[in-house]
Amino acid sequence: MQPTRKKQIAILGSTGSIGTQALDVIAAHPDRFEARVLTAANRWQLLAEQARRFVPAAVVIAGEQHYEPLREALADLPIAVYAGSDALCQVVTSQEVDMVLTAMVGFAGLAPTIAAIRAGKAIALANKETMVVAGELINSLAREHRVPILPVDSEHSAIFQSLMGEVSPIEKIILTASGGPFRTFTTEQLQGVTPAMALRHPNWDMGAKITIDSATMMNKGFEVIEAKWLFGVEAERIQVVVHPQSVVHSAVQYADGAVKAQLGVPDMRVPIQLAFSYPERLASTFDRLDWYAMHDLTFERPDTERFRCLALAYESLRQGGNMPCIVNAANEVVNRAFLEERCSFLAMADIIAHAMQHTPFIAQPTYDDYVATDAEARRIAAARLKS
Ligand code: NDP
Ligand code: MG
Repeated sequence: MQPTRKKQIAILGSTGSIGTQALDVIAAHPDRFEARVLTAANRWQLLAEQARRFVPAAVVIAGEQHYEPLREALADLPIAVYAGSDALCQVVTSQEVDMVLTAMVGFAGLAPTIAAIRAGKAIALANKETMVVAGELINSLAREHRVPILPVDSEHSAIFQSLMGEVSPIEKIILTASGGPFRTFTTEQLQGVTPAMALRHPNWDMGAKITIDSATMMNKGFEVIEAKWLFGVEAERIQVVVHPQSVVHSAVQYADGAVKAQLGVPDMRVPIQLAFSYPERLASTFDRLDWYAMHDLTFERPDTERFRCLALAYESLRQGGNMPCIVNAANEVVNRAFLEERCSFLAMADIIAHAMQHTPFIAQPTYDDYVATDAEARRIAAARLKS
Protein backbone atom coordinates (compact mmCIF):
# COMPACT_ATOMS: atom_id res chain seq x y z
CA MET A 1 0.00 0.00 0.00
CA GLN A 2 1.18 3.51 -0.84
CA PRO A 3 2.14 5.39 2.37
CA THR A 4 -0.09 8.46 2.73
CA ARG A 5 1.61 11.83 2.95
CA LYS A 6 1.82 13.11 6.49
CA LYS A 7 -0.50 16.01 7.21
CA GLN A 8 1.60 19.15 7.62
CA ILE A 9 0.23 21.22 10.48
CA ALA A 10 0.94 24.83 11.42
CA ILE A 11 0.19 25.55 15.07
CA LEU A 12 -0.48 29.20 15.88
CA GLY A 13 0.16 29.38 19.63
CA SER A 14 2.11 26.13 20.11
CA THR A 15 3.30 27.09 23.61
CA GLY A 16 -0.21 27.43 25.05
CA SER A 17 -2.64 24.95 26.57
CA ILE A 18 -4.17 23.89 23.23
CA GLY A 19 -0.83 24.18 21.40
CA THR A 20 1.07 21.84 23.74
CA GLN A 21 -1.77 19.30 23.70
CA ALA A 22 -1.77 19.46 19.90
CA LEU A 23 1.94 18.62 19.97
CA ASP A 24 1.12 15.63 22.22
CA VAL A 25 -1.29 14.44 19.53
CA ILE A 26 1.32 14.91 16.79
CA ALA A 27 3.93 13.08 18.88
CA ALA A 28 1.53 10.16 19.37
CA HIS A 29 0.94 9.84 15.59
CA PRO A 30 4.30 10.52 13.92
CA ASP A 31 3.20 8.44 10.93
CA ARG A 32 0.23 10.75 10.29
CA PHE A 33 1.11 14.28 11.32
CA GLU A 34 4.06 16.64 11.19
CA ALA A 35 4.47 20.01 12.89
CA ARG A 36 5.41 22.27 9.98
CA VAL A 37 5.21 25.66 11.72
CA LEU A 38 5.24 26.56 15.42
CA THR A 39 4.56 30.02 16.84
CA ALA A 40 4.37 31.85 20.17
CA ALA A 41 3.98 35.39 21.47
CA ASN A 42 6.71 35.70 24.12
CA ARG A 43 7.74 32.33 25.56
CA TRP A 44 10.67 31.92 23.19
CA GLN A 45 12.56 29.37 25.34
CA LEU A 46 9.65 26.95 25.29
CA LEU A 47 9.21 27.58 21.57
CA ALA A 48 12.91 26.77 21.06
CA GLU A 49 12.53 23.51 23.03
CA GLN A 50 9.52 22.52 20.95
CA ALA A 51 11.36 23.37 17.74
CA ARG A 52 14.35 21.27 18.79
CA ARG A 53 12.05 18.32 19.41
CA PHE A 54 9.74 18.61 16.36
CA VAL A 55 12.09 20.35 13.88
CA PRO A 56 9.46 22.33 11.97
CA ALA A 57 10.40 24.18 8.78
CA ALA A 58 9.73 27.52 10.46
CA VAL A 59 9.00 29.16 13.79
CA VAL A 60 7.57 32.60 14.47
CA ILE A 61 7.82 34.63 17.65
CA ALA A 62 5.26 37.44 17.60
CA GLY A 63 7.19 39.51 20.17
CA GLU A 64 9.99 40.91 18.00
CA GLN A 65 12.27 41.58 20.99
CA HIS A 66 12.74 37.81 21.33
CA TYR A 67 13.95 37.27 17.78
CA GLU A 68 17.71 37.32 18.44
CA PRO A 69 17.80 34.88 21.40
CA LEU A 70 15.42 32.52 19.58
CA ARG A 71 17.49 32.62 16.38
CA GLU A 72 20.67 31.92 18.37
CA ALA A 73 19.04 29.04 20.26
CA LEU A 74 18.13 27.36 16.95
CA ALA A 75 21.22 28.36 14.94
CA ASP A 76 22.40 24.74 14.52
CA LEU A 77 19.07 23.53 13.10
CA PRO A 78 17.58 23.90 9.60
CA ILE A 79 14.66 25.98 10.91
CA ALA A 80 13.71 29.38 9.54
CA VAL A 81 13.10 31.88 12.35
CA TYR A 82 10.79 34.87 11.91
CA ALA A 83 9.38 37.53 14.21
CA GLY A 84 6.36 39.82 14.30
CA SER A 85 2.62 39.52 13.74
CA ASP A 86 2.85 39.92 9.96
CA ALA A 87 5.12 36.87 9.82
CA LEU A 88 2.29 34.83 11.37
CA CYS A 89 0.10 35.69 8.39
CA GLN A 90 2.88 34.76 5.98
CA VAL A 91 3.98 31.39 7.39
CA VAL A 92 0.46 29.95 7.31
CA THR A 93 0.32 30.47 3.53
CA SER A 94 3.42 28.29 2.92
CA GLN A 95 2.76 25.80 0.17
CA GLU A 96 3.58 22.78 2.32
CA VAL A 97 1.10 23.57 5.10
CA ASP A 98 -2.11 21.49 4.89
CA MET A 99 -3.89 22.58 8.06
CA VAL A 100 -3.64 25.52 10.46
CA LEU A 101 -4.56 25.07 14.11
CA THR A 102 -5.57 28.50 15.43
CA ALA A 103 -4.60 28.20 19.10
CA MET A 104 -3.64 31.78 19.87
CA VAL A 105 -5.76 33.99 22.09
CA GLY A 106 -8.16 36.78 21.19
CA PHE A 107 -8.71 39.17 18.30
CA ALA A 108 -5.06 38.65 17.28
CA GLY A 109 -6.14 35.31 15.77
CA LEU A 110 -8.38 36.92 13.16
CA ALA A 111 -5.78 38.14 10.64
CA PRO A 112 -3.73 34.91 10.41
CA THR A 113 -6.93 32.84 10.19
CA ILE A 114 -8.09 34.94 7.25
CA ALA A 115 -4.64 34.65 5.62
CA ALA A 116 -4.78 30.85 6.02
CA ILE A 117 -8.27 30.61 4.52
CA ARG A 118 -7.28 32.79 1.57
CA ALA A 119 -4.34 30.43 0.99
CA GLY A 120 -6.77 27.47 0.94
CA LYS A 121 -5.59 25.86 4.19
CA ALA A 122 -7.95 23.70 6.24
CA ILE A 123 -8.63 25.32 9.61
CA ALA A 124 -8.72 23.53 12.95
CA LEU A 125 -10.44 26.27 14.91
CA ALA A 126 -9.62 26.73 18.59
CA ASN A 127 -9.47 30.54 18.53
CA LYS A 128 -13.21 31.11 19.04
CA GLU A 129 -12.74 34.88 19.19
CA THR A 130 -12.26 34.79 15.40
CA MET A 131 -15.81 33.44 14.94
CA VAL A 132 -17.23 35.75 17.62
CA VAL A 133 -15.79 38.84 15.95
CA ALA A 134 -16.26 37.97 12.28
CA GLY A 135 -18.18 34.72 11.85
CA GLU A 136 -20.05 35.91 8.79
CA LEU A 137 -16.88 37.07 7.02
CA ILE A 138 -15.02 33.87 7.94
CA ASN A 139 -17.87 31.72 6.60
CA SER A 140 -18.05 33.56 3.31
CA LEU A 141 -14.27 33.36 2.85
CA ALA A 142 -14.29 29.66 3.73
CA ARG A 143 -17.03 29.03 1.17
CA GLU A 144 -15.22 31.06 -1.48
CA HIS A 145 -11.93 29.21 -0.94
CA ARG A 146 -13.60 25.82 -0.24
CA VAL A 147 -11.85 25.50 3.06
CA PRO A 148 -13.21 23.27 5.83
CA ILE A 149 -13.39 24.66 9.36
CA LEU A 150 -13.06 21.88 11.91
CA PRO A 151 -14.05 22.77 15.46
CA VAL A 152 -11.61 22.14 18.29
CA ASP A 153 -13.70 23.69 21.07
CA SER A 154 -15.01 20.60 22.92
CA GLU A 155 -18.69 21.62 22.72
CA HIS A 156 -18.51 22.36 19.00
CA SER A 157 -16.62 19.17 18.34
CA ALA A 158 -19.41 17.35 20.20
CA ILE A 159 -22.05 19.06 18.06
CA PHE A 160 -20.03 18.28 14.93
CA GLN A 161 -19.83 14.63 15.99
CA SER A 162 -23.57 14.54 16.75
CA LEU A 163 -24.18 15.78 13.20
CA MET A 164 -22.04 13.12 11.52
CA GLY A 165 -24.13 10.99 9.20
CA GLU A 166 -27.26 13.17 9.47
CA VAL A 167 -28.96 14.83 6.51
CA SER A 168 -31.89 16.32 8.46
CA PRO A 169 -31.94 19.86 9.88
CA ILE A 170 -31.11 20.66 13.50
CA GLU A 171 -34.11 21.43 15.70
CA LYS A 172 -32.02 22.62 18.61
CA ILE A 173 -28.45 22.65 19.88
CA ILE A 174 -27.89 21.83 23.54
CA LEU A 175 -24.67 23.57 24.52
CA THR A 176 -23.40 22.30 27.85
CA ALA A 177 -21.48 24.48 30.32
CA SER A 178 -19.61 23.46 33.45
CA GLY A 179 -20.78 26.65 35.17
CA GLY A 180 -17.20 27.41 36.20
CA PRO A 181 -15.79 27.74 39.72
CA PHE A 182 -18.51 30.19 40.89
CA ARG A 183 -21.58 28.28 39.76
CA THR A 184 -23.06 28.15 43.26
CA PHE A 185 -21.89 31.59 44.46
CA THR A 186 -24.39 34.28 45.46
CA THR A 187 -24.06 37.82 44.06
CA GLU A 188 -22.57 38.92 47.40
CA GLN A 189 -19.96 36.19 47.20
CA LEU A 190 -19.19 37.09 43.56
CA GLN A 191 -18.36 40.63 44.68
CA GLY A 192 -15.26 39.42 46.50
CA VAL A 193 -13.83 36.78 44.17
CA THR A 194 -10.14 37.05 43.23
CA PRO A 195 -8.22 36.06 40.07
CA ALA A 196 -6.63 33.17 41.99
CA MET A 197 -10.11 31.81 42.81
CA ALA A 198 -11.24 32.22 39.20
CA LEU A 199 -8.15 30.45 37.85
CA ARG A 200 -9.06 27.22 39.69
CA HIS A 201 -11.41 25.74 37.09
CA PRO A 202 -13.09 22.54 38.30
CA ASN A 203 -12.79 20.42 35.11
CA TRP A 204 -10.46 21.94 32.52
CA ASP A 205 -6.85 23.13 32.63
CA MET A 206 -6.77 26.01 30.15
CA GLY A 207 -4.98 29.29 29.44
CA ALA A 208 -5.67 32.20 31.80
CA LYS A 209 -7.88 34.23 29.45
CA ILE A 210 -10.39 31.47 28.70
CA THR A 211 -10.36 30.37 32.35
CA ILE A 212 -11.52 33.84 33.42
CA ASP A 213 -14.07 33.83 30.57
CA SER A 214 -15.36 30.51 31.92
CA ALA A 215 -15.73 31.97 35.41
CA THR A 216 -17.87 34.86 34.06
CA MET A 217 -19.61 32.54 31.55
CA MET A 218 -18.62 34.93 28.76
CA ASN A 219 -16.93 31.85 27.35
CA LYS A 220 -20.33 30.17 27.02
CA GLY A 221 -21.75 33.30 25.42
CA PHE A 222 -18.91 33.24 22.90
CA GLU A 223 -19.60 29.57 22.25
CA VAL A 224 -23.24 30.36 21.43
CA ILE A 225 -21.98 32.84 18.82
CA GLU A 226 -19.39 30.33 17.58
CA ALA A 227 -22.13 27.66 17.27
CA LYS A 228 -24.37 29.98 15.31
CA TRP A 229 -21.70 30.55 12.66
CA LEU A 230 -20.29 27.02 12.59
CA PHE A 231 -23.66 25.28 12.34
CA GLY A 232 -26.01 27.94 10.92
CA VAL A 233 -28.42 27.85 13.88
CA GLU A 234 -30.05 31.00 15.28
CA ALA A 235 -29.50 31.95 18.93
CA GLU A 236 -33.09 31.08 19.95
CA ARG A 237 -32.39 27.47 19.02
CA ILE A 238 -29.16 27.21 21.01
CA GLN A 239 -29.93 26.25 24.60
CA VAL A 240 -27.23 26.57 27.23
CA VAL A 241 -27.49 23.88 29.90
CA VAL A 242 -25.24 23.87 32.96
CA HIS A 243 -23.75 20.42 33.45
CA PRO A 244 -21.07 20.62 36.16
CA GLN A 245 -19.50 17.21 35.45
CA SER A 246 -18.50 18.10 31.83
CA VAL A 247 -19.15 14.55 30.62
CA VAL A 248 -21.84 15.38 28.05
CA HIS A 249 -19.82 17.71 25.82
CA SER A 250 -22.94 19.00 23.95
CA ALA A 251 -25.83 17.60 21.91
CA VAL A 252 -28.11 18.08 18.92
CA GLN A 253 -31.89 17.59 18.94
CA TYR A 254 -33.68 16.65 15.71
CA ALA A 255 -37.25 17.11 14.42
CA ASP A 256 -38.39 13.73 15.77
CA GLY A 257 -37.26 14.68 19.29
CA ALA A 258 -34.21 12.42 19.22
CA VAL A 259 -31.13 13.89 20.89
CA LYS A 260 -27.61 12.84 19.92
CA ALA A 261 -24.80 13.79 22.25
CA GLN A 262 -21.08 13.15 22.46
CA LEU A 263 -19.71 12.09 25.85
CA GLY A 264 -16.23 11.56 27.18
CA VAL A 265 -13.68 12.34 29.85
CA PRO A 266 -12.83 16.07 29.68
CA ASP A 267 -9.64 16.01 27.58
CA MET A 268 -8.99 18.54 24.81
CA ARG A 269 -6.70 16.12 23.00
CA VAL A 270 -9.79 14.22 21.82
CA PRO A 271 -11.29 17.09 19.79
CA ILE A 272 -7.83 18.25 18.66
CA GLN A 273 -7.00 14.79 17.34
CA LEU A 274 -10.36 14.46 15.59
CA ALA A 275 -9.92 17.85 13.88
CA PHE A 276 -6.53 16.63 12.64
CA SER A 277 -7.67 13.19 11.47
CA TYR A 278 -11.28 13.81 10.32
CA PRO A 279 -13.07 11.98 8.72
CA GLU A 280 -11.12 9.16 10.39
CA ARG A 281 -10.88 8.49 14.11
CA LEU A 282 -7.44 7.44 15.33
CA ALA A 283 -6.75 5.24 18.32
CA SER A 284 -5.73 6.93 21.56
CA THR A 285 -4.59 5.97 25.05
CA PHE A 286 -6.60 8.81 26.66
CA ASP A 287 -8.73 7.95 29.71
CA ARG A 288 -12.04 6.20 29.06
CA LEU A 289 -15.33 6.97 30.81
CA ASP A 290 -15.97 4.82 33.84
CA TRP A 291 -19.73 4.18 33.58
CA TYR A 292 -20.09 2.67 37.05
CA ALA A 293 -18.43 5.72 38.62
CA MET A 294 -20.79 8.27 37.02
CA HIS A 295 -23.53 8.31 39.63
CA ASP A 296 -24.91 11.73 39.10
CA LEU A 297 -24.83 13.63 35.88
CA THR A 298 -26.81 16.79 36.59
CA PHE A 299 -28.29 19.53 34.41
CA GLU A 300 -29.47 23.05 35.38
CA ARG A 301 -30.64 26.32 33.88
CA PRO A 302 -27.92 29.02 33.70
CA ASP A 303 -28.49 32.13 35.81
CA THR A 304 -28.00 35.13 33.52
CA GLU A 305 -28.50 37.58 36.39
CA ARG A 306 -25.49 36.38 38.34
CA PHE A 307 -23.65 35.63 35.10
CA ARG A 308 -24.62 38.69 33.11
CA CYS A 309 -21.87 38.21 30.50
CA LEU A 310 -23.85 35.30 29.06
CA ALA A 311 -26.86 37.59 28.56
CA LEU A 312 -24.67 40.29 26.98
CA ALA A 313 -23.28 37.82 24.46
CA TYR A 314 -26.82 36.69 23.48
CA GLU A 315 -27.83 40.35 23.20
CA SER A 316 -24.87 41.10 20.92
CA LEU A 317 -25.92 38.24 18.65
CA ARG A 318 -29.49 39.60 18.47
CA GLN A 319 -28.13 43.01 17.45
CA GLY A 320 -25.62 41.51 15.02
CA GLY A 321 -23.28 43.64 12.90
CA ASN A 322 -20.15 44.64 14.80
CA MET A 323 -21.79 44.18 18.24
CA PRO A 324 -20.14 40.81 19.01
CA CYS A 325 -16.81 42.40 17.98
CA ILE A 326 -17.47 45.20 20.50
CA VAL A 327 -18.25 42.67 23.23
CA ASN A 328 -15.11 40.70 22.44
CA ALA A 329 -12.84 43.77 22.51
CA ALA A 330 -14.29 45.13 25.77
CA ASN A 331 -14.08 41.65 27.25
CA GLU A 332 -10.38 41.36 26.37
CA VAL A 333 -9.79 44.63 28.24
CA VAL A 334 -11.72 43.69 31.39
CA ASN A 335 -10.46 40.11 31.39
CA ARG A 336 -6.87 41.36 31.51
CA ALA A 337 -7.80 44.03 34.09
CA PHE A 338 -9.47 41.46 36.36
CA LEU A 339 -6.39 39.22 36.15
CA GLU A 340 -4.23 42.19 37.13
CA GLU A 341 -6.64 43.14 39.95
CA ARG A 342 -7.61 46.42 38.29
CA CYS A 343 -11.27 45.44 37.90
CA SER A 344 -13.71 43.61 40.16
CA PHE A 345 -15.50 40.47 39.00
CA LEU A 346 -18.94 42.06 38.73
CA ALA A 347 -17.68 45.30 37.14
CA MET A 348 -16.56 43.34 34.07
CA ALA A 349 -20.13 43.03 32.74
CA ASP A 350 -20.88 46.70 33.51
CA ILE A 351 -17.91 47.86 31.43
CA ILE A 352 -18.78 45.54 28.53
CA ALA A 353 -22.38 46.86 28.56
CA HIS A 354 -21.01 50.42 28.55
CA ALA A 355 -18.83 49.66 25.51
CA MET A 356 -21.86 48.13 23.75
CA GLN A 357 -23.78 51.38 24.26
CA HIS A 358 -21.01 53.77 23.27
CA THR A 359 -19.12 52.17 20.39
CA PRO A 360 -20.59 53.12 16.99
CA PHE A 361 -22.80 50.37 15.59
CA ILE A 362 -22.13 49.08 12.07
CA ALA A 363 -24.75 46.76 10.58
CA GLN A 364 -22.66 45.32 7.72
CA PRO A 365 -19.03 45.51 8.85
CA THR A 366 -16.05 44.91 6.55
CA TYR A 367 -12.70 43.57 7.76
CA ASP A 368 -11.43 47.14 8.21
CA ASP A 369 -14.55 47.97 10.24
CA TYR A 370 -13.77 45.08 12.59
CA VAL A 371 -10.23 46.34 13.10
CA ALA A 372 -11.49 49.88 13.79
CA THR A 373 -14.30 48.62 16.06
CA ASP A 374 -11.86 46.49 18.04
CA ALA A 375 -9.61 49.51 18.67
CA GLU A 376 -12.49 51.86 19.52
CA ALA A 377 -14.26 49.43 21.88
CA ARG A 378 -10.96 48.76 23.68
CA ARG A 379 -10.43 52.52 24.08
CA ILE A 380 -13.94 53.02 25.47
CA ALA A 381 -13.66 50.07 27.86
CA ALA A 382 -10.23 51.19 29.08
CA ALA A 383 -11.48 54.74 29.69
CA ARG A 384 -14.49 53.43 31.65
CA LEU A 385 -12.20 51.18 33.67
CA LYS A 386 -10.13 54.20 34.77
CA SER A 387 -13.13 56.37 35.74
P1 NDP B 1 -2.95 29.96 26.16
O1 NDP B 1 -2.89 31.30 26.80
O2 NDP B 1 -2.61 28.77 26.98
O3 NDP B 1 -1.98 29.95 24.88
C1 NDP B 1 -2.03 30.95 23.91
C2 NDP B 1 -0.98 30.73 22.85
O4 NDP B 1 -1.05 31.77 21.89
C3 NDP B 1 0.43 30.78 23.39
O5 NDP B 1 1.24 30.00 22.54
C4 NDP B 1 0.80 32.26 23.26
O6 NDP B 1 2.18 32.48 23.21
C5 NDP B 1 0.13 32.59 21.93
N1 NDP B 1 -0.34 33.97 21.80
C6 NDP B 1 -1.10 34.64 22.70
N2 NDP B 1 -1.36 35.88 22.26
C7 NDP B 1 -0.75 36.00 21.06
C8 NDP B 1 -0.61 37.06 20.12
N3 NDP B 1 -1.17 38.26 20.32
N4 NDP B 1 0.09 36.83 18.99
C9 NDP B 1 0.66 35.64 18.78
N5 NDP B 1 0.59 34.61 19.63
C10 NDP B 1 -0.12 34.78 20.76
O7 NDP B 1 -4.40 29.83 25.52
P2 NDP B 1 -5.27 28.51 25.29
O8 NDP B 1 -4.43 27.46 24.66
O9 NDP B 1 -6.02 28.20 26.51
O10 NDP B 1 -6.36 29.04 24.24
C11 NDP B 1 -6.06 29.27 22.88
C12 NDP B 1 -7.37 29.51 22.12
O11 NDP B 1 -8.13 28.30 22.15
C13 NDP B 1 -8.26 30.59 22.74
O12 NDP B 1 -8.92 31.29 21.72
C14 NDP B 1 -9.25 29.79 23.56
O13 NDP B 1 -10.51 30.45 23.67
C15 NDP B 1 -9.40 28.53 22.71
N6 NDP B 1 -9.82 27.35 23.47
C16 NDP B 1 -9.03 26.86 24.48
C17 NDP B 1 -9.40 25.74 25.21
C18 NDP B 1 -8.50 25.16 26.25
O14 NDP B 1 -8.80 24.09 26.77
N7 NDP B 1 -7.39 25.80 26.59
C19 NDP B 1 -10.68 25.10 24.96
C20 NDP B 1 -11.44 25.65 23.87
C21 NDP B 1 -11.00 26.75 23.16
P3 NDP B 1 3.04 32.65 24.59
O15 NDP B 1 3.09 31.29 25.21
O16 NDP B 1 4.37 33.09 24.12
O17 NDP B 1 2.32 33.65 25.42
MG1 MG C 1 -15.50 25.07 25.12
